[in-house]
Amino acid sequence: MTTAFYTPPSSIRGDRVLLPDDEARHASTVLRKQAGDSIVVVDGEGGWHRVQIDHVSRSQVVGTRMETRREVGEMNVSLTVGLGLLKSRNRFETFLEKGVELGAAHLIPLTSDRTEKETLRRERTHNLLVAALKQCGRSRLPTVPSPQPVADVAAETDADLRLICHRPADAAGTLLQALRRAAAPASITVLVGPEGGFTDGEVAAATEEGFVPVSLGPRRLRAETAGITAAATVATWAAGR
Ligand code: SAM
Repeated sequence: MTTAFYTPPSSIRGDRVLLPDDEARHASTVLRKQAGDSIVVVDGEGGWHRVQIDHVSRSQVVGTRMETRREVGEMNVSLTVGLGLLKSRNRFETFLEKGVELGAAHLIPLTSDRTEKETLRRERTHNLLVAALKQCGRSRLPTVPSPQPVADVAAETDADLRLICHRPADAAGTLLQALRRAAAPASITVLVGPEGGFTDGEVAAATEEGFVPVSLGPRRLRAETAGITAAATVATWAAGR
């Protein structure tokens, strides 16, 4: 699978496709693309385009769209994963990168009683989402909203299946068992706590909103590992149904 280029939908006018400066520089100076070459361009909103290059300069690549497909590489279920903000921004960014690769539609930074006051850098986050999108062969960028209180996310979600990862001893089975029991959900929201975990009160409040506590196995996983494991479990289950 070749690495795709990214351009926002606003840079596609009719069949004319313009790459942003950084993508154009990469195409022209690193990959040595030339007029006549065929490339794949994704727009982050579900559009996958085969484009024939018309013109290349150091900082500009313009081409003509030859073919368009929709939702290439996307999952057959809409997955939202909420993860408590972590002390280490790097670890949270690892979760975001893997969340893109695993097909999540929404990745929500959660605030809760035990989260740190860390914030994400918007431009850096966007760049890492785009890099992962291009590499993994999907066509839609997940949304990453501003950090939201876990109680608000739990109260506002209308997902068909709602799961909260919690201590194995207090869980009603594993996440995989919950997926297998569910009646063809079109949307799934999974909540994962920060380093210190969710408080019992937060889990109880989420349970009142229809969230089922589930386990990810007998070992205590680091928070970002738990978020990635939850997304990977849903992605593998969805690919096989
Ligand atoms: N001291 C915390 C506790 O005992 O709850 C540990 C929190 S763990 C490092 C961070 C988060 O990852 C947890 O809040 C939970 O959502 C998730 N998690 C980690 N391991 C898990 C497991 N085996 N089963 C379910 N959730 C897990």
